[in-house]
Amino acid sequence: MKALRFHGRNDLRLEEVPEPFAGPGEVKVEVVWCGVCGTDIHEYQTGPSAIPSSERAHPLTGGHFPLTLGHEFAGKVVELGSGADAAPIGSRVAVEPLFRCGDCDFCRLGEFNRCVQFAALGLHADGAFAQFIVVPDYMVHPIPAAVSLEAAALVEPIAVGWHAATRAGVGPGDTALVTGAGPIGLGSLIALRALGASRVFVSEIGNGARARAARELGADRVVDPQVDDVVATVLDETQGAGVDIAIDTAGVQPALDAAVGAVRNGGTVVSSASWEGPAEVDLRTLLVREIGLLGTLAYSSEFADVLASMESAGPAIVEALVTKRVALSEAIEGGFDELIERKDDHIKILVGPDRTADARAFDDP
Ligand SMILES: [Zn+2]
Ligand SMILES: [Zn+2]
Repeated sequence: MKALRFHGRNDLRLEEVPEPFAGPGEVKVEVVWCGVCGTDIHEYQTGPSAIPSSERAHPLTGGHFPLTLGHEFAGKVVELGSGADAAPIGSRVAVEPLFRCGDCDFCRLGEFNRCVQFAALGLHADGAFAQFIVVPDYMVHPIPAAVSLEAAALVEPIAVGWHAATRAGVGPGDTALVTGAGPIGLGSLIALRALGASRVFVSEIGNGARARAARELGADRVVDPQVDDVVATVLDETQGAGVDIAIDTAGVQPALDAAVGAVRNGGTVVSSASWEGPAEVDLRTLLVREIGLLGTLAYSSEFADVLASMESAGPAIVEALVTKRVALSEAIEGGFDELIERKDDHIKILVGPDRTADARAFDDP
């Protein structure tokens, strides 16, 4: 089968690899859609960063590069190993790509994103930019009938935003600021809205695809930080109080400053951006204004909630987020390079196997 393999920085190759088979407790999935993530781009452009080298293979998975990328995906079950029963053969599934060591305190509590041997498909084991993938049974989530496979492939990045919103403790009537309207920022917006936030501000540079998507997905106000002062705008529209929650997904100093500046006294700032280096926070501000600052990584129990929300919101989310579909054989130029060279035009590019032209027909339940 064909697979898109990471060999090192700026070295992705479409290769022929042996088709995997499902061992005990494993499920073989025919991949239909797999999204290109910022993390994939980061590894391609500046990595290897999270992906281990052969000298430092991952202790849980044994994974190292060359390795197949791709961790945001959905497909159909084609084979079940002995004891695997998460979904019957032929059923449509989304895959939660985090491994579980099963032994650590965090795994015992169900906090799999905190596992001491944290590992993910597509970074620490072969991922889903391939025709088939074999995954542990516990990663598999059956898709409700009303949810398309395209929507299901978006569950992973939205779950990251959902977890950030949950970490912030969002509740009905809360106000919020999200900095950055990439997939994680938009996922945070979707989650804040679904979990009852009454007003959500989004900051995003320019008036391109991302700002437009933020408006479509229910942002009350999209602020361009190159035109308007984000903090002043938020304070102005909240009677000087600030927002209850600020989620930073931009990962640049001005955005973090805006998040801290726009949150109310006693409010919560959540950092879910992947920074290139250290950031500055004036801890005196956190002290004087009793602001909480939290980090957040991936998700732990949000997949089912996001999948359920997709039953009604799925079509609008696909429409707002998916800016291109490309076949696996064209994914390097048409997916990765396209996202780098025409960043402003894209939010999420979905890669399908080499039948992308008719994959929508394949998408029917
Ligand atoms: Zn991702
Ligand atoms: Zn663990």
